[in-house]
Amino acid sequence: MTSVDFPKHKKAKALKPGSRRPAKELCSECGLCDTYYVHYVKEACAFINQQFETLELQSHGATRNLDNPDEVYFGVHQEMMAARKQQPIEGAQWTGIVSSIAIEMLNRGMVEGVVCVQNTKEDRFGPMPVIARTPEEVLAARVNKPTLSPNLSVLEQIEQSGMKRLLVIGVGCQIQALRAVEKQLGLEKLYVLGTPCVDNVTRAGLQKFLDTTSKSPDTVVYYEFMQDFRVHFKHEDGSTELVPFFGLNTKELKDVFAPSCMSCFDYVNSLADLVVGYMGAPFGWQWILVRNDTGKEMLDLVKDQIDTQPVMSQGDRKAAVQQSIPAYDKGVTLPMWAAKLMGVVIEKIGPKGLEYARFSIDSHFTRNYLYVKRQHPEKLEAHVPEFAKRIVGQYKLPE
Ligand SMILES: Cc1cc2nc3c(=O)[nH]c(=O)nc-3n(C[C@H](O)[C@H](O)[C@H](O)COP(=O)(O)OP(=O)(O)OC[C@H]3O[C@@H](n4cnc5c(N)ncnc54)[C@H](O)[C@@H]3O)c2cc1C
Repeated sequence: MTSVDFPKHKKAKALKPGSRRPAKELCSECGLCDTYYVHYVKEACAFINQQFETLELQSHGATRNLDNPDEVYFGVHQEMMAARKQQPIEGAQWTGIVSSIAIEMLNRGMVEGVVCVQNTKEDRFGPMPVIARTPEEVLAARVNKPTLSPNLSVLEQIEQSGMKRLLVIGVGCQIQALRAVEKQLGLEKLYVLGTPCVDNVTRAGLQKFLDTTSKSPDTVVYYEFMQDFRVHFKHEDGSTELVPFFGLNTKELKDVFAPSCMSCFDYVNSLADLVVGYMGAPFGWQWILVRNDTGKEMLDLVKDQIDTQPVMSQGDRKAAVQQSIPAYDKGVTLPMWAAKLMGVVIEKIGPKGLEYARFSIDSHFTRNYLYVKRQHPEKLEAHVPEFAKRIVGQYKLPE
């Protein structure tokens, strides 16, 4: 056998569970190091080697146009829209557009498998990455497992199974590493369906968040930071609990987010072919970004199952973002009555649609910029991409 038949990475050894990862405390547990693709980690890891431009060019045939404000914020895209399924999938995170696309792709034989994440038997939020081969297995992965999830840990199985056409569903850090090793996977066609992602946590961190924020942490089956500036918790009995963002116990929760997420600038999953989130859409709708022709091909599969409307934008986020920077930095927590009042006012006059998405991106990028500057000053220049520097540059930051 020649070295061409037997690439070097197959000789590499996956790192043992629990052992220190090359990205050290910035590891987002994407799963790459759990496979022999650890061989490429120094180039592939989003927290060791930031390479948006190279990978955007490889994935979309273009890099972000920094003269186009929408691309600075949302990345390379052909089209944006708001959408929702006419018949939502019960138990999905939103209306189930992600699961529906994956199911269509399997049913039509476009792919042989779908990398997605189910939950473990013991824990509804415990992530269990799988390669789903049937619609039932895809459906079993619906709803967010709101913790770091080693989705790429199944990559070795793909090569071993001989699969040639694959869909991967994942968040930004997973997709950055995936794109970096894509050519080594031996696939004929890779489809990438991404979701935005921010403020992720370890499983222990998730418990702390639930315990600190919900009145009944053990019965939470779903939660989302919604466009109405409230966290919506859904409980086992079908009830919904609303907690205003401004009432969160910032001091307690300051250290709960994973260091990787505090250093992430890929909120909008820049390298996926198609992105399905919610934050650029009106309340109750999902937000879709078609990045390239492959993404369009994927969205077309469900066009007759969804209602769509053009994206809208309303309000001005800038003053609210500027005020929130020192407040977050000092860990200010409002009393619940004030938080509720502020929530009502901001819902009425605050940013909506794309302006809400910009509000969220600005708030997180300024926070993360400060985090990298303070905790990893040696990484600041190379790790923060140019588009993020422009976004952060609009605000006055504390030292
Ligand atoms: C951790 C996390 C944070 C998010 N934060 C935002 C945000 O701030 N703004 C925004 O607009 N959207 C965010 N999203 C996306 C949004 O919450 C929905 O997932 C998305 O709109 C799809 O909804 P759906 O009903 O179509 O998905 P469903 O049909 O319910 O499918 C959900 C899919 O997500 C995958 N998944 C679940 N957990 C994870 C995980 N931990 N890592 C990788 N993949 C996972 C599953 O494999 C499943 O296929 C986030 C998603 C995740 C996983």
